[in-house]
Amino acid sequence: MEVTNKYIAIKAQIEGAPEESDFEVKTEHLFLSVKPGSNDIIIKNLYISIDPYQLNRMKTVSVSRSYTVGLTPGEVIDAFGVGKVIASGNSEFEKGDYVAGVISWGEYSISQGFMLRKLDPMGLPLSYHVGLLGISGLTAYAGFFEVCKPNKGEKVFVSAASGSIGNLVGQYAKQLGCYVVGCAGSTKKVNLLKEKLGFDEAFNYKEATDLDATLQRYFPDGIDIYFDNVGAEMLEAAVSNMNLRGRVAVCGAISEYTSAGKRAAPDMLNVIYKRISIQGFLVGDYMSLFPEFVSTTIDHIQRGKMHVLEDVSCGVETIPSAFAGLFRGYNVGKKIVKVSDE
Ligand code: NAP
Repeated sequence: MEVTNKYIAIKAQIEGAPEESDFEVKTEHLFLSVKPGSNDIIIKNLYISIDPYQLNRMKTVSVSRSYTVGLTPGEVIDAFGVGKVIASGNSEFEKGDYVAGVISWGEYSISQGFMLRKLDPMGLPLSYHVGLLGISGLTAYAGFFEVCKPNKGEKVFVSAASGSIGNLVGQYAKQLGCYVVGCAGSTKKVNLLKEKLGFDEAFNYKEATDLDATLQRYFPDGIDIYFDNVGAEMLEAAVSNMNLRGRVAVCGAISEYTSAGKRAAPDMLNVIYKRISIQGFLVGDYMSLFPEFVSTTIDHIQRGKMHVLEDVSCGVETIPSAFAGLFRGYNVGKKIVKVSDE
């Protein structure tokens, strides 16, 4: 059978904050069958993860780093997601299998099995395997437990705290018995963090005129752990408030993705004298933690100790607005696009 596959592409390389108009919906004809001897897997995309890092792939090639492949205008954009196999020439996948891994910003994907695994939904909604039990969840888990090396009772600060990764870091930290403060970009998000997710405190960073003083107020005894999702001035203010042997996990720097010249300049004398560790990390280095992460997280969810925060829009045409919205704080929790019913 032949279908028309709708997919989203960039019109040109993007500098600054992305706009919906930077993208176009394209179509291609696709045969939903594989040629004899082919290794191809044809996947019907069901749920697609919308992630800030993709913006760094959309910039001019000179800005792309070796760990991420730059995107070409007009071409299919690969992305993490969940789908269903509709035809396969690959012996590891069969028609009808659910899969999680690299699919695309479109209705269908063709894969050769690269970074793709069979998915057992374990009776949980498929969308959970995109965010909570997907890359975002593992990033939160590995970043917090392996990079921050937290202890019960420690004081933890999380930025972009109502986002996909931030909300989970805060919830893991509460499970461990830490004092947790998050920052987010609206009153609604701040209330959600305190009232639903159990954060001890939260504040709207857009209303804070002096970030350093704000953090001093929420952490009169200093910060032991800062989980950084945003970089720039928030990182500088957090470093100024760190305790002796404090740990900073540099997960992301979203505020710097949209402004080429913006960089954090933390007080390095503070870093030296307080023996602060500032460690960047990439989730790909922690895949071995996946089984432990999944079982721990499902256990927390089933015991009602953690909440799942998802923000789902429907249809492949909503991908550009979903993506652009990440950089304007429109999402609450994991941003996912549901492409299709099964
Ligand atoms: P997210 O937090 O769900 O979405 C982005 C959020 O960032 C927005 O909702 C917005 O919330 C906030 N934001 C946007 N622009 C901002 C700005 N200029 N200053 C401060 N906050 C801003 O995204 P996510 O998927 O969880 O990703 C969080 C970070 O982790 C990103 O930097 C991402 O690139 C990074 N990441 C790293 C790894 C890794 O392996 N190290 C893996 C995945 C993701 P507000 O309303 O609060 O502003």
